[in-house]
Amino acid sequence: MLLKNLSILYGKDLTYVRSANLPVSETFGKLNQRKGKAIDCEGLLLVPGFINMHTHIGDSIAKDATLSGTVDNKIHPVLGAKQRILKQSNPEHLMSFMKNACHSMIRKGITTFVDFREGGSYGVVLLQKALEHTPIRGVILGRVESYHDHAQIKKNLPLSGDIKKNLAAVIKISDGIGISGANENSDSALQYYSKTKKIRAIHSSETKQSILVSKKIAKRTETERALQMKPHFMIHMTYAGMADLKKAAKKTRGIVICPRANASLAEGIPNFEAMQNAGCKVAIGTDNVMINSPDMFREMDYLWKVHMGLHQKRIDPKEILKMATVNGGMLLGKKIGSIQPGFLADGVFFDKHSLDLEPMHNPYASLVHRASESAISAVMIGGKIIHGKL
Ligand SMILES: [Zn+2]
Repeated sequence: MLLKNLSILYGKDLTYVRSANLPVSETFGKLNQRKGKAIDCEGLLLVPGFINMHTHIGDSIAKDATLSGTVDNKIHPVLGAKQRILKQSNPEHLMSFMKNACHSMIRKGITTFVDFREGGSYGVVLLQKALEHTPIRGVILGRVESYHDHAQIKKNLPLSGDIKKNLAAVIKISDGIGISGANENSDSALQYYSKTKKIRAIHSSETKQSILVSKKIAKRTETERALQMKPHFMIHMTYAGMADLKKAAKKTRGIVICPRANASLAEGIPNFEAMQNAGCKVAIGTDNVMINSPDMFREMDYLWKVHMGLHQKRIDPKEILKMATVNGGMLLGKKIGSIQPGFLADGVFFDKHSLDLEPMHNPYASLVHRASESAISAVMIGGKIIHGKL
């Protein structure tokens, strides 16, 4: 189809184009080339679909079930309340709440989400089933339920043959691996994960406590240890120091920050400017549905204002919007997150005349802190309108 008279945030720099014709199939075509059935899009602004770079939608059943206690009390992969709740829940119920989370994300303009899926192969299959009739792009990073305690890390215990077999099975059916953290894995295990040919990601330096634990058990920083798995990107890095950020800049594609999730756990606010100054590309995720809503509008608004408020310094809202779109695509290493020829045709059509957006003097600020799902006319994935209409 040919989208006529459309405003666009175009290319990797999200350049505002006031009116253009855009051919769309499964991917975006060349601007102003005439192709396919024309649809008049006067009054609409097309923005790349949001990429929610870090979720755990498996805990959608446990929304706000545990608000008090430490991070480990809530979401530790072995000891947390989350694990107990998930174990006691009926898989059908888990699946139906995961599906709801996906529908909620679509309505909020999220066209891709990258999920850390627990529960081995079974966990991956459960999410795949939830996604069967849900048109969102789910990037599933699985893991094996194998965690080392501190003594085992000190001894550098390798993964057993059985665990390696399970890991191979997980990798085969998923998009890659999402490892809980260096403090639950020996060097040998982390190095083994680095051989995974698909996407590799790991949580790192989320809390002051996790940094101290790493120093205590391994005499190295958590980030140094996490880098042994050669991750494409690391999640959080809220408490990583400048030296670690520089290492991350050299050895990974970038960092995914989860500002509202960190704050909701009373664990601080990531300083994305320090990460960028170290040379890291930064993207955004909403993390556990249990502790935070999968809503990139709220994430962008929060990040923009909290950062400016804390550091008493202006930030260009375009930088924030890039973190929610273009940068995610770069971290994934896929042609996604940007409206340019050959990129997957995922996008959100905003009504420029909607109550909250008109008059739109600065589209970046409008999207970062005024837009909500009520300003969305339609959501497109792979060139198909999957929510709303044009
Ligand atoms: Zn996480």
